[in-house]
Amino acid sequence: LNTCHIRKKAAEKVYDEVGRIKKSFRSLKKPLIIIAGCVAQAESEEMIKREPYIDIVIGPQSYHKITDLILSYERKNKKIIETEFDVVKKFDELEKVYNSENKVSSYLTIQEGCDKFCHFCVVPYTRGPEYSRPFKQIINEAEKLVKNGTKEIILLGQNVNAYNSFENGKNYKLSSLIKRINEIQNLKRIRFTTSHPKDMTEDLIECYKTCNKLMPFLHLPIQSGSNKILKSMNRKHNKEYYISIIEKLKDINQNIKISSDFIVGYPGELEKDFIETIDLIKKIGFINSYSFIFSPRPGTPASEKKLNNLQISEQRLKKMQDLLESLQYKNNKNYQNKICKVLIENKLNNQEKYFGRTENMTPVILEADECKIGEIIDVEVNSFNKKNLFGFRKLNKERAA
Ligand code: SAM
Ligand code: SF4
Repeated sequence: LNTCHIRKKAAEKVYDEVGRIKKSFRSLKKPLIIIAGCVAQAESEEMIKREPYIDIVIGPQSYHKITDLILSYERKNKKIIETEFDVVKKFDELEKVYNSENKVSSYLTIQEGCDKFCHFCVVPYTRGPEYSRPFKQIINEAEKLVKNGTKEIILLGQNVNAYNSFENGKNYKLSSLIKRINEIQNLKRIRFTTSHPKDMTEDLIECYKTCNKLMPFLHLPIQSGSNKILKSMNRKHNKEYYISIIEKLKDINQNIKISSDFIVGYPGELEKDFIETIDLIKKIGFINSYSFIFSPRPGTPASEKKLNNLQISEQRLKKMQDLLESLQYKNNKNYQNKICKVLIENKLNNQEKYFGRTENMTPVILEADECKIGEIIDVEVNSFNKKNLFGFRKLNKERAA
């Protein structure tokens, strides 16, 4: 079971899941239970104390050891805890085995960890300090992916735009990576996630002008529209700075769409702070965003603060999600009867229908007689709901003739 520790609800799910497995295997041979990911890193041996059905606990920096750990467990029949922090070794080892799949859209991890220490967040504790993989290693992997059929690369990192690698006297940043990956033949689209506003530097913003494969969509979490709350969260940016980034991006391309993350009910959040967040959401017109009620995480500074009233937080979350949904609906409505470019990712089971995404990441379900996976095609949108667009392939006149 791969686990997430970012909110309490996500962390608790793993124990429920182990309980379910235990029940369904009651009259069968016990399966080997391995808990991986950030809950494993954070709770370590406590997990086995709480649930002795678990056999191996393995943190996110030790995935490359999974096979050896299983073999060792089978030999010695002894529970194993492996939560070492050796991120460099992990990438060196994983490079040999992973990303050989031929997916149209592939994630490529370029960075891990975080040095920002937002007061609500466990990532700096579970994932450790910022680490950037070597430039050359990433380019090799990108080329390998494209050779295997990838048409879209999503550069991935907890703080992806903090990517910073010094090699042979040269300093490589995320913008250097995007520019180089933009040159790979047969690659059609580039995206990156998740970014921090503080690291949205001019050279990176400039890429939206100079790199034709960089898609006009950015996930840029702000968390709150109140400067008081942003300060108390230790976010290291204020609302005005965030808005100035969006304005620079829109100056380059009016059609760039922005999505974000929001935390509702952070300790000390008053109604007027919440209204500031709502106003900001309306001003920017976010699409495709995520919102969560503050969840106190063990060991973080915010977990020591007085909690807000849960009922009020739930009401605020509902109000925010209704607004975000209505913005998403409005965004989708704008596509109605228009033609958009869609990268085809797969064919839907037993149907003459395909799934793909627009340049702004909006999911599209479309009908087409003939369509290749990995192709970018024109789609005419004829209906929509708040999640998806629906349409059909629009052949240009020459092809149709
Ligand atoms: N690095 C990204 C950034 O700084 O914006 C965010 C990465 S975090 C893994 C994903 C999202 O989870 C955050 O943007 C935040 O909204 C949410 N999150 C993190 N800790 C949380 C907490 N304690 N309670 C509620 N939501 C939380
Ligand atoms: Fe967590 Fe993102 Fe803040 Fe890092 S920058 S502490 S990952 S929310």
